[in-house]
Order: sequence, then C-alpha cells, then structure tokens
Amino acid sequence: TGGLTVRDVVVRYAGSRRGGGTTAVDGVSLAVDAGEVVALLGPSGCGKSSLLRAVAGLEPLAAGSVAFDGEDLAGVPVHRRGFGLLFQEGQLFPHRDVGRNVAYGLEIQGLARDEREGRVSELLDAVGLAGYARRAVTTLSGGQRQRVALARSLAPRPRLLLLDEPLSALDRQLRERLALDVRATLQDTGTTALFVTHDHDEAFTVADRVAVMDGGRLLQVGTRDELTSAP
Ligand code: ADP
Ligand code: ADP
Repeated sequence: TGGLTVRDVVVRYAGSRRGGGTTAVDGVSLAVDAGEVVALLGPSGCGKSSLLRAVAGLEPLAAGSVAFDGEDLAGVPVHRRGFGLLFQEGQLFPHRDVGRNVAYGLEIQGLARDEREGRVSELLDAVGLAGYARRAVTTLSGGQRQRVALARSLAPRPRLLLLDEPLSALDRQLRERLALDVRATLQDTGTTALFVTHDHDEAFTVADRVAVMDGGRLLQVGTRDELTSAP
C-alpha cells in the first residue's frame, strides 16, 4: 500500500551542557494513505512541527522510521524525498512575477517552456488566481500570496505535500475561505498531504482524517464522525 508510514518516531532537541533537552515527539506512529489528506492538530508546542520536519528530513530521528511507498527514507536527504513544503509565510521570490514563482520548481526540473506554462495556468486556476501570471507578487494581498505559494508547492507534483500552519498568518475570515480552497485544490490535484494546524475547525475542513497530538504523543486519529462520536 502506498503513502506515508511514520513508525514510533522520536524527535529530541539537545539541551545545554547542564542538561534539559526536550523530547518534542515521543513515539508517534501514523499512516497517510495515497491521495489522503491528514491534519496534525494540537496546541502550540505539542510537537506537530517537529514531526512534520522529521518527515521532511529536516530533523534527525532519535528513534523510529519514516517510509514512503514502502521505502525507508533513512539517509535520504530533503531534496531527494520528492516532498513539497509549505510554511506559514510562503516566502515568494519578490523579483519573479506570479507565474515565474509557480514555475520555479519546474524550471529546476528542466520542464519544457510550453509544458511549464500549461501547468502554471492550471494551478493558478485551481487556486483562484487565473489571469494573475504576469502580476508582480508585491501587488498581492496576504491571502493571494499564500495561494501563489500553494500553487508553487504543488507545481512539481510532489508525492507528499507537507504544510506547516500555512494559513495561520491570515485573518480569521480569510482562513476559513482559504481552508476550503486548499481542500478543493488538494482534492483536484489528488495530492497526498500532511497539514499541521492548531485550529480545530481548519483541521476538519481541510483533512480527511485528523490526528490529535498533545505533549509529543498522538492521542487519537480519525474522521470527524469517528472523533466526535468517541466516548
Ligand atoms: P508545535 O509545532 O506543536 O508548536 P514544535 O514541534 O514546534 O511544536 O515544538 C515542540 C517542542 O519542541 C516545544 O517544546 C518546542 O519549544 C521544542 N522545540 C522545537 N524546535 C526546537 C529546537 N529547534 N530546539 C529546541 N527545542 C525545540
Ligand atoms: P512555531 O510557532 O512554528 O512552532 P516557534 O516560534 O516555536 O515556531 O519556533 C521558531 C523556530 O525556533 C523553529 O525553527 C523552531 O524549531 C525553533 N524553536 C522552537 N522552540 C525552540 C527552543 N526551545 N529552542 C530553540 N529553538 C526553538
């Protein structure tokens, strides 16, 4: 079976010489099936980001394993995992227009120009920014910028998209609307994704299943129905 398999993962940060290290992730196991979107939900500091970064290959595992499509990713560097990353501040390239921001990963892949342009306009369509390709990113609102960042992260067709609080810098109303659009975009593109958020409503809007974390541990995983009918 395809998708992401996280098994008994532990992430630790070293303390000072006097000790006091942190176990940020304390033995988490989780699967994200091919085509599925799972949200990691929990309060600030519970280890969501550390787990996501460990999956990305940005933090070493103190124990456990991360595999994709059955392949253990130990020793596979970040850029060889075939994953996409999207953070809170999308960090667009200010000197590239919207289209060339979205095309960035495709240029690196060496995709031909007409193929690039086709994929860029499809994705701008998908995120509700059709016709924006030649706009300067400096003219965009915060919500529009995150839409561009989402399109850019999807352009190389990552086999897994990792999103770390991608909507948290936006105001509440915009977040609700964008959460629906993110869900639709991930569905339309058939993208497998792990979405970190501290916002309960956002988690259930975006994801097929929600994984609830606290204190570095996974408390429960399920659909909205499964979690709300739990005793
Ligand atoms: P969340 O994403 O749920 O807010 P984090 O994974 O960012 O949680 O943090 C989990 C714990 O690990 C917190 O206690 C945090 O302070 C600590 N932590 C996170 N990153 C580091 C780091 N680079 N060095 C040391 N401690 C860290
Ligand atoms: P977030 O709100 O996304 O969890 P934070 O503001 O907690 O981010 O942390 C920002 C950066 O600092 C991250 O790279 C995180 O890994 C790191 N960090 C978080 N907590 C600590 C800590 N206690 N010691 C050192 N670095 C930390």
